[in-house]
Amino acid sequence: MFTLMQLPYEKNALHPYMSDKTLDFHYGKHHQTYVDNLNKLITGTDLDGLSLEDIIVKTYGEIDKQAVFNNAAQVFNHNLFWQCLTPNQEEKVMPENLKAALVGSFGSQEEFYNKFKEVATSQFGSGWAWLIKNENGLEIIKTSNAENPIALKLQPLFALDVWEHSYYLDYQNRRGDFIDVVLHNLVNWQFVATNL
Ligand code: FE
Repeated sequence: MFTLMQLPYEKNALHPYMSDKTLDFHYGKHHQTYVDNLNKLITGTDLDGLSLEDIIVKTYGEIDKQAVFNNAAQVFNHNLFWQCLTPNQEEKVMPENLKAALVGSFGSQEEFYNKFKEVATSQFGSGWAWLIKNENGLEIIKTSNAENPIALKLQPLFALDVWEHSYYLDYQNRRGDFIDVVLHNLVNWQFVATNL
């Protein structure tokens, strides 16, 4: 049985960048529903008892396991997404090793922000933008719906949810504004750097 993760901050702590109303729905309803659906789908099956990551890898691309994959991946994706945000100013300070890795892979911190925004904005419809680590350094990718780096055998460092439910209450159709606000005001770069 999976349970909804505890948020590492209060639901009103990300104000004014992300409202408690958004957290109520996004964490309290959407994320909770993925957890509940996943539990219903795996109870009594051979997937029961496996880790989230194992379920994701085992069900990816399996037509008859698509619902399990979608819910398991969305639980994983949201778990990472919430951990990548913080209200704490100290955690928003980018560690030097991450800064150096971003400069090495993208040329400058500014170029990283620009590229990330470009990729996240251009994800057509529901999906995610990711900073991942590979053997050549850091890379930005986007995925559709629930698909994620775990399914693709890649290592995610940072997840940004660009489904409409992520920003519509606070930013309506302005996905680009939401991306800017998150990148510059909400990311827990200390946490992102721990997986570097
Ligand atoms: Fe979401």
